[in-house]
Order: sequence, then structure tokens, then C-alpha cells
Amino acid sequence: MDFPRGHLSYSQIRTYLICPRKYQYAYIEQVPVPLNDKLLLGTVFHSVLEWYFTARLAGSMPGLDETDACFADSFQRLRGAQAVRWDDSPERVSRRGHAFVQHFFHELAPRFDPLMVEKELTAPLDNQPVELRGVIDLVEKDLSITDFKTATARWSANRVRHAQLQMQIYNYLFEKNFGNANSQQRFCVVYSRRGQSVHSQLLEVAAGSDDREHLFQVIGYVADGIQAERFPRNEGFRCGFCEYRDVCLGATPCKRRKHEEEVDEIS
Ligand code: SF4
Repeated sequence: MDFPRGHLSYSQIRTYLICPRKYQYAYIEQVPVPLNDKLLLGTVFHSVLEWYFTARLAGSMPGLDETDACFADSFQRLRGAQAVRWDDSPERVSRRGHAFVQHFFHELAPRFDPLMVEKELTAPLDNQPVELRGVIDLVEKDLSITDFKTATARWSANRVRHAQLQMQIYNYLFEKNFGNANSQQRFCVVYSRRGQSVHSQLLEVAAGSDDREHLFQVIGYVADGIQAERFPRNEGFRCGFCEYRDVCLGATPCKRRKHEEEVDEIS
């Protein structure tokens, strides 16, 4: 079969690796599901970062009030535009988001020197009939790449290790588009359980051409599975908070909290 989006991305690859059936629901059948409130918050936070860094690129320096107003507008717009599964009250989610924005503005924003924002890159893949695509949150003037994440808890070393594939993909895309520019990569994780106390981590990730063999093996496995229409269920702890659980396994009570921080992110 053809690739449903005409390209492969980190999100698609990660979804297939977590559970091929989930990939089928999300990308082929496009089963409509509500957005959970953590993904909503992550999406809104990213839209604020895009607005903020785009303004900086245009030569202005937005203040906290403007940045906070951008969050409020975006939050209202997005929550009205689609169904949301609220695990926490909308008011508390909004308060947590405003706290994230304040933390970003005071603690993180001054550290970044933007060159490109939400940069979409594509590159061909050897031996695959499909392109690889990625959207990099931020490229700075020293060509370092930053991907922002929101979370309820600090990322563990294991969590970083699992996310390395994303940076390996970005490193490959960056090199194919701009040459061997020796870019650095890092995750910037902004986290708080309730919004009262917000923290962040800047996590450098070593991802380079040494990892290419592994990267191509993973991509090949996913691409072959999609083309062969191999979409088996991968039942496990992730089913407990899978948005397709009811469609896949029927409506049964589930524990959403355990391991939730592992999927509490937006790319
Ligand atoms: S409920 Fe489990 S098996 Fe079904 S799609 Fe979700 S993760 Fe896969």
C-alpha cells in the first residue's frame, strides 16, 4: 500500500513502533478521537513559542503580557476547535499553561538566539520509495537544534534515550539540507505536575552520522510494515492510556496515570 501521508515522520515512526494497530487507526483509518488535555496544552505552548521566536526574528522583543495573551488566545481557539478529553479541569490546565509561559519567558527565552522557527525539512531515503519529513522547533544562529517538550514530570535518562530517534532524524534531515554543519541537538523539557512550580531541563543529545545504520534499520522496518499492511496489536501498559483503546479493545475501565509521563509530550 502507499504511505498515507506521502512521507514518513518521527511521529509516524514512533506510533508504529509503539503499536502498529495504533498507526492504522491514526494515519490510515483516521479514527476521530478527542485530543487529551496534555496534548492540547503542548500544542498551545508550541504555538506560543512559534509566535514568540518569529517576532524575535522580525526584530521585535515581545513582552510577558503579549506572550501571555498569545497563550490565552491560542488556548481558547484550540479548545473550541475540537473535542478535548479533560483529565483535569480546563481552568487548571489553563493555569498550568500560563505558568509554563511565565517560566519560558523569564528562564528560557533569553538563552535562545533564533535563526529558523518551525523549519520543515524533507530528505530522500536510500532504498525507500518515500521521503522523510520533520519540522524542527528551533534552529539557532550557531546551528544548534532545540525541540521543546511539555511534561508533568522531569525526564529520566531512560526517557531521553527513547527520544533519541527523533534527534537522529533531525540530524539526518539537517545534514541532507544544509550539509555537514556540525549542529548540536537538545531537548528543552518544561515540566510541572500542577503548574505551581515549573522547572525545565536542557538535555543535550548526541545524535550524528554514527547512528545512521540503526536509524535506517528502524525506518526500513516501519516502511516495510506499512507497505505490507502489517498492523498487529501490541497490547501492553500503553493500552491503558491509548486514545484508540475503546475502538481497539472495547470500552473497559483503564488506569491512565501509570507511565503517563512517558507519553506526556508534544513533538
Ligand atoms: S489499545 Fe493497545 S493494542 Fe489497541 S491500538 Fe492502542 S496501544 Fe495498540
